[in-house]
Amino acid sequence: MSGAPETTQGSKILPSAFDAHHPPSHELMDQCVHCGFCLPVCPTYVIWHDEMDSPRGRIYLMKLAADGAATLNDKWVGHLDACLGCMACMTACPSGVDYGKLIEATRAQIERNYPRSKAERLYRRMILSTFTDPKRLRAMLLPLKVYQKAGLRAVARKTGLLKLLPKRLRSMESLLPDLGAAADLPEVTPAQGQRRHRVGLLTGCVQSVFFPQVNAATARVLAAEGCEVVVPRDQSCCGALPVHAGAEEQALALARRTIDAFERAQVDTVVVNAAGCGSSMKEYGYMLRDDPQYVARARAFAAKCKDVSEFLAGLEPRAPRNPLRLRVAYHDSCHLQHAQGVRGQPRALLARIPQLELLEIPEAAVCCGSAGIYNLVQPQAAEELGDRKAGHVAAQNPDVVVSGNPGCLLQLRTSLERAGKRVPVLHTVELLDASIRGMSIPASGD
Ligand code: SF4
Ligand code: SF4
Repeated sequence: MSGAPETTQGSKILPSAFDAHHPPSHELMDQCVHCGFCLPVCPTYVIWHDEMDSPRGRIYLMKLAADGAATLNDKWVGHLDACLGCMACMTACPSGVDYGKLIEATRAQIERNYPRSKAERLYRRMILSTFTDPKRLRAMLLPLKVYQKAGLRAVARKTGLLKLLPKRLRSMESLLPDLGAAADLPEVTPAQGQRRHRVGLLTGCVQSVFFPQVNAATARVLAAEGCEVVVPRDQSCCGALPVHAGAEEQALALARRTIDAFERAQVDTVVVNAAGCGSSMKEYGYMLRDDPQYVARARAFAAKCKDVSEFLAGLEPRAPRNPLRLRVAYHDSCHLQHAQGVRGQPRALLARIPQLELLEIPEAAVCCGSAGIYNLVQPQAAEELGDRKAGHVAAQNPDVVVSGNPGCLLQLRTSLERAGKRVPVLHTVELLDASIRGMSIPASGD
């Protein structure tokens, strides 16, 4: 492609395998000193022990391609596609390598310059057009709802019919939660008592369709803590799924729409209860760096975004907490712990609930295998990681598992179910809501 950087090898000039539009930065790649501290937390290295499926190996592959010493062939792309984008390597890296920016740039290069098969392109396009549009997602789920309600799911599972489906479809089917009725939140939920903040709530695509009860719980808890909660009707997908999948143009268009919607709502904070969404929204300033009309607004917007646990932990509690006598295992979502650095806040909120016993899950830094659309495009690796996580969770014998990301909730439920462990998996805010309202949580869930 014209304008692509070129490098020399002997006297020969080698063209980069990347095009000139934001290739992965040499400066960032050169910060890697090959120390290997990131290897034990990298989920693909943990399960496969292959250097090329480690952060160090992937940075090396990026460098080879940038220097024209590798092409974007099936093998090269396979190692990069297998990355979960979990950012555990960033937390572990003593040299501060910003792997997030490297993989984001590399993924966009792959989508532009690597010819995926027609079937693969269609599959990815279907996921990115459906999972970024709650209306479309609901429409697609209608027949599946019938499939569940008519008892066909139970029959298909019992008779082994599902085994006839391709792995990816089986994985999609197994992740599907029991679908309830969609419930839209009011546009404005008033604060209880004196208003302390006016906050906007991102309802999310997967969250609003699969977990509307999480959004309802979030609005109740925020209102109980003195916040007026605004749910802009014209909000769209935040663009997290496309940005993590390298679909740059789609991600930027959705980011602009999200900024427009929340600016109109005139809120002082944008509260997010889906870690994957929050981590992207906090990066809008960087994502829109080439857009003179939006860059300043994007930075201002990003500064207003807070994960719900981060926001609530910063508020002096107002609503009394009722006891919940439960052993609760907290699962760190990667996009909360690694991408946003939010670890202590959810634990602090849970610890304030009387009688609640907080349990730590071993290997907390390692991803559960959810990672955006990862469990839909790489179901085998996702399943292996899910089983590994379920084993660690089950060893703690919790009454409830909580996490702060819808993808993790789906993945943990499915993996625990596969392990024969029936335990409720809830969002952190659902437990807070139950405590504030004095409600109980069933001891074993379904
Ligand atoms: S983002 Fe996660 S999967 Fe990818 S290289 Fe880093 S640790 Fe490994
Ligand atoms: S920890 Fe950082 S510097 Fe060390 S190998 Fe991993 S990415 Fe490179």
